Amino acid sequence: MTSEPKDFIREIIREDLRTGKHTTIVTRFPPEPNGYLHIGHAKSIVLNFGIAQEFGGRCHLRFDDTNPSREEEEYVQSIIEDIHWLGFDWGEHLYFASDYFEQLYEWAEYLITAGEAYVDDLSAEEIRAYRGTLTEPGKPSPYRDRSVEENLDLFRRMRAGEFPDGSRVLRAKIDMAASNLNLRDPVLYRIVHATHHRTGDRWCIYPMYDFAHGQSDAIEGITHSLCTLEFENHRPLYDWLIEHLPVPARPRQIEFARLNLTYTVLSKRKLLRLVTEGHVTGWDDPRMPTLSGMRRRGIPPEAIRTFCDRIGMAKRDSTVDVAQLEFCIRDELNRTARRVMGVLNPLRVVIENYPEGQTEQLEAPYYPDDPPKMGMRTVPFSRVLYIEREDFREDPPKKFFRLAPGREVRLRWAYFLRCERVIKDPDTGEITELRCTYDPATRGGDAPDGRKVRGTIHWVSAAHALPAEVRLYDRLFNRPNPDDAPEGKDFLANLNPGSLTIVEARVEASLATAAPGDRYQFERRGYFTVDPDTRPGHLVFNRTVPLRDTWAKIEKQMKQRP
Ligand code: ATP
Ligand code: MG
Repeated sequence: MTSEPKDFIREIIREDLRTGKHTTIVTRFPPEPNGYLHIGHAKSIVLNFGIAQEFGGRCHLRFDDTNPSREEEEYVQSIIEDIHWLGFDWGEHLYFASDYFEQLYEWAEYLITAGEAYVDDLSAEEIRAYRGTLTEPGKPSPYRDRSVEENLDLFRRMRAGEFPDGSRVLRAKIDMAASNLNLRDPVLYRIVHATHHRTGDRWCIYPMYDFAHGQSDAIEGITHSLCTLEFENHRPLYDWLIEHLPVPARPRQIEFARLNLTYTVLSKRKLLRLVTEGHVTGWDDPRMPTLSGMRRRGIPPEAIRTFCDRIGMAKRDSTVDVAQLEFCIRDELNRTARRVMGVLNPLRVVIENYPEGQTEQLEAPYYPDDPPKMGMRTVPFSRVLYIEREDFREDPPKKFFRLAPGREVRLRWAYFLRCERVIKDPDTGEITELRCTYDPATRGGDAPDGRKVRGTIHWVSAAHALPAEVRLYDRLFNRPNPDDAPEGKDFLANLNPGSLTIVEARVEASLATAAPGDRYQFERRGYFTVDPDTRPGHLVFNRTVPLRDTWAKIEKQMKQRP
């Protein structure tokens, strides 16, 4: 590990350690349990847990559950699972902001007693109207100068449930003319008669984010509270509260740019709409940018961590090209996925000079670049095979080096194969079968007479191959910025109708024992993983990413030439 800080946050931390301001670094990841984690959260997780690891400190997982709402338990469980899957652990430091409700309440009374908070009877709308704008100061609420006694009495009665939702709030008494609107007497508590997933009906007043967050940080002894840029102008309030309360520590808030990705939405509200309106099959749909979707898609957690490290930390918002993520995924899978053969779009091949009923078991390495690394498997070879339909052209264009009438190619790990005749459906004209011959002297892939072939194609033995449902994914949105929608429409208008294609493929027999989560490269086709929908006798694969298709590139270049 280098001793150079890799970003401005680490630079600050190094300095704090050097000057002795802190001896132990404590960070936290504070998800609100109202949705599943996505790749944007991964950036924050990798940052917070990564810093704790690098500096020998610790990172807390704190659920920021200050909004009572439904179904939170499901989200809590998924968040725990996803962070573990990414490779991080908080040890015994699992917390809930709701555990601090009593302490936060006491601190609210402390502010009231100090004359620094008051109960306001204005409605939400009136409060907004009184707040003023960036160019005009706000005006004080008529309730701003209530006595400490009256405020305490009203606040206690708010807690006791005497008032309906929205009828009163507790506000900090700061400065209605402050240039930062967050300091114009921000709301600290509101009345919500709702059942909370952990505290049940114990409370009917709930602290606002700004009041709960920094104080929770202080309770836990967080040294550096890292958050995204939208909280930058909340920092003065964060600091004001820390200064005016008898908190046990003085955490420092530091903001960084949130992750935006092309062709991707990263807002829980929008992701929830995709799920509830049925545009995807669920939070873990492999097209979703959620960690559970990415896991199901076959993306290794290492690739996500590498991606988060590479994009670095900026102080200004920007959008990262999703191709960078795809690069990290390919890079990781290239080193770790076993190579096997699967034919996505099968075309039948009969080898006329291969004895009927004969089968050979050919040896093939799982990792051809370094065979001992992953060992070998056997691949059965017989008279009838399937090859990829696109690997044959009746009229081959220039630079097409695969199979064509009268032409010879190499079958991966097997023999040279020559196409003798093309059989077509008499009605549709569609090619239904190729009649071929093989050269028995070329077993293993080389001809003793030294003759060369220009192409090597993959194949499976028809009698041995396993049928498999293969789900091919494309981007969920067909615009780099999905929010860039026509007048009167929203991001849903940019959904890509072709984001999922299902094909009936044939895969090699060795995959009979493949289990959900296993990852493979289907040679020449891409990286695939076994989907949990797999049942005995019904294999389901998800394509994680295609390989870069060089033929498609050549064809495109040729088309562009005059
Ligand atoms: P959304 O805006 O999608 O509703 P959120 O920010 O409200 O998400 P939280 O559960 O509050 O979601 O987020 C937990 C942590 O993850 C916060 O510290 C937040 O700043 C961080 N985070 C959320 N989205 C991103 C992102 N796109 N890039 C980096 N960090 C993020
Ligand atoms: Mg949030």
